[in-house]
Amino acid sequence: MTALSPQSSVLSPDASSGLVINNVTKEYPTPAEPLVVLRGVSFSLAPGDRLAIVGPSGSGKSTLLNILGTLDAPTAGTVTLNGVDPFSLSAKELAKFRGSRVGFVFQDHHLLPQCNALENVLIARLASGGVNKLDADRAAELLQQVGLRDRATHLPAELSGGERQRVAIARALMNSPQLVLCDEPTGNLDTHTGRIIGELLTRLAAQSQAILVAVTHSAALAEMFPRKMGMVDGKLT
Ligand code: ADP
Ligand code: MG
Repeated sequence: MTALSPQSSVLSPDASSGLVINNVTKEYPTPAEPLVVLRGVSFSLAPGDRLAIVGPSGSGKSTLLNILGTLDAPTAGTVTLNGVDPFSLSAKELAKFRGSRVGFVFQDHHLLPQCNALENVLIARLASGGVNKLDADRAAELLQQVGLRDRATHLPAELSGGERQRVAIARALMNSPQLVLCDEPTGNLDTHTGRIIGELLTRLAAQSQAILVAVTHSAALAEMFPRKMGMVDGKLT
């Protein structure tokens, strides 16, 4: 395991490829002084890099992940993914950017209860228009890769927690994203299932050369990542 210096530049020799985070801060206004949640976060990751960020509850992990995934904007600082600053895009371009370049896996699977496993993976395609035969084939292939070939027509209620999270991983990878973000992906799972999910995530992300960033308070999950950073009170350590 190698530690990663927060300011490391070795990881991204070329700023136009990979994920570059520079001095990101996030504050929320309050009636008194602003609540500062992120205090100048900087790092760079190259395609294929896998990073776990570990820290206690309330340290700002989800806030950082949401900014990396463009679900939330920083108060200051910059984010670029393969040379594109998503926060300079129009709302429409930003939605397209997020849908095509970023995959999310949350603690809770966020599957649609009325859709079966295959349909839930295909949901990822809806934002980009219709779903065709090739999409259906790819979704079925991804379900096979996460070990759920025989569960394609099962509803989420008919799947175990670990199986639901595998569907969520397949959905996150459906559009071949450049960046896969995971927020406590094993937080609802037992240790054994969590290990299986962690292995799947790291293997499939490596296979597609996506950048994988997971935030977690699980030391066991973080151990599976070649690179680790700590987050304490809005700062990387
Ligand atoms: P973690 O994921 O590490 O548990 P979060 O990023 O969710 O931490 O939250 C960090 C801090 O930011 C917490 O104190 C939380 O209350 C605060 N926070 C998060 N989102 C908001 C928001 N939308 N408005 C105000 N405060 C927020
Ligand atoms: Mg969180």
